[in-house]
Amino acid sequence: MERPDDMLSDPPGLWTRCLDRARTTMPQSTFTTWLSKSFFESLEEDSFIVRFPNQFMANFVMTNHGEMLQGSLRELSGHPGLSLLCVGDPAPPFAPSMPAQPPPAPVRQVHSPSIRSNYLHPSYTFDRFVAGPSNELAHAGARAVAMNPGSPSYNPLFIYGGVGLGKTHLIQGIAHEVKRIHPDKRFVYVSSEQFLHLFVTSLGRQNVDEFRRIYRDIDLLLMDDVQFLGGKTQTQEELFHRFNDLYQTGRQIVFTSDRLPGEITGLEERLVSRFQSGLVADIQPPDYETRMAILELKVRDEGEFFPSEVLDFIASTIRSNVRQLEGAVHRLAASSRINGAPIDLTLTKRVLTDAFGSSAQRLSAGSITAAVAEAFAVSPSQLRGKQRRRDILIPRQVAMFLIREMTESSLVEIGRFFSGRDHSTVLNSIDRIRQLSSEDPSLRRRILDLRTRLSG
Ligand code: ADP
Ligand code: MG
Repeated sequence: MERPDDMLSDPPGLWTRCLDRARTTMPQSTFTTWLSKSFFESLEEDSFIVRFPNQFMANFVMTNHGEMLQGSLRELSGHPGLSLLCVGDPAPPFAPSMPAQPPPAPVRQVHSPSIRSNYLHPSYTFDRFVAGPSNELAHAGARAVAMNPGSPSYNPLFIYGGVGLGKTHLIQGIAHEVKRIHPDKRFVYVSSEQFLHLFVTSLGRQNVDEFRRIYRDIDLLLMDDVQFLGGKTQTQEELFHRFNDLYQTGRQIVFTSDRLPGEITGLEERLVSRFQSGLVADIQPPDYETRMAILELKVRDEGEFFPSEVLDFIASTIRSNVRQLEGAVHRLAASSRINGAPIDLTLTKRVLTDAFGSSAQRLSAGSITAAVAEAFAVSPSQLRGKQRRRDILIPRQVAMFLIREMTESSLVEIGRFFSGRDHSTVLNSIDRIRQLSSEDPSLRRRILDLRTRLSG
């Protein structure tokens, strides 16, 4: 038996045990999002220093879980004087020193005709956004930005994720919230496509200064779908300068994108490094519980009531796109009104097949395996077979992962499809891909592309 004192001779081990304990007291997703990437840094006097991937996460953990973690540290080590200190990774090398004074908050509402933010969808507010394990970091980051724009620990905020997963909702949520709690702050919400369009037009009309004025005196720049700027070198150059001007005076910048900065083809290296220099947060497809919660919210919006087996059916059928979840609710409600038919499973199955029929029918274990085989240049029968070569193993596991995500197949059924493998093998494969794709951007990109292609 180890005396508690001994734990301080092995601080990394102490942190591991502390994490093991934390894991049992919080939802797995919370643990994964906030704690799994932390590691012991050093022990200085009584300060037990733990490092996080960025300052934002360090602050968040300190505020929300600090007391609990510190309690465990003290108890496990037998040192009641120990205190926990969470630190983030140091600022990136390019980061210019922040001005000592925060930028003066403009009290006047300056209404230049050209400071025009885009239309904001009235319901894209935070209170209509369902937070869950799949979007936890992005959601927390967006809220922090709205509350306190410009803090270096999340500037810029870069939110990325697949189509229809809530990126626009979140970035507009920031705009709504800033309007509500900081009515004196000025922001521009713009898609990168419009940014490009306005810039090019101003070049043509030789009034670039006018264009630049829009981005000069604002407190927040919110730019949606920045991946569109890949390959547009002149606009990138312009954005680079707008970014620096704002960043150096402590103004907040937020981007969304359908992929990571480094995965946007034709994006200049210096922009990639700026995009990555703050908080990078992903949005994954929602899990079942989050899909159910989103459905319930949308059904309430429609002023409808759907029986729970109907909600369950929709949440089990539409797995990877929130916009389609919403679409299903609209269609079902409309169809019930038009036909005077009750909203039950029969109607739901009919409406969903009509609406998502082609993709819903196409998506079988076979069709997904065929698509994966094509993408990885192997044959479907190799994927379903027994060979364990790495160049076949990975695509096979990707196929299992996507089948699980995009169809209703159970683990047992998937195992059967792949030459009668055991359901635990399937589960391990799926976990493995989840792990690998979080470490390997090119694999993640391939899976993202496959998913987009398959969901038509
Ligand atoms: P993206 O910009 O990522 O393609 P959107 O933000 O346009 O996706 O979201 C698509 C639709 O799904 C919107 O109507 C949005 O309100 C809804 N939506 C997405 N995620 C959520 C969520 N977590 N909670 C509530 N609604 C959501
Ligand atoms: Mg969008």
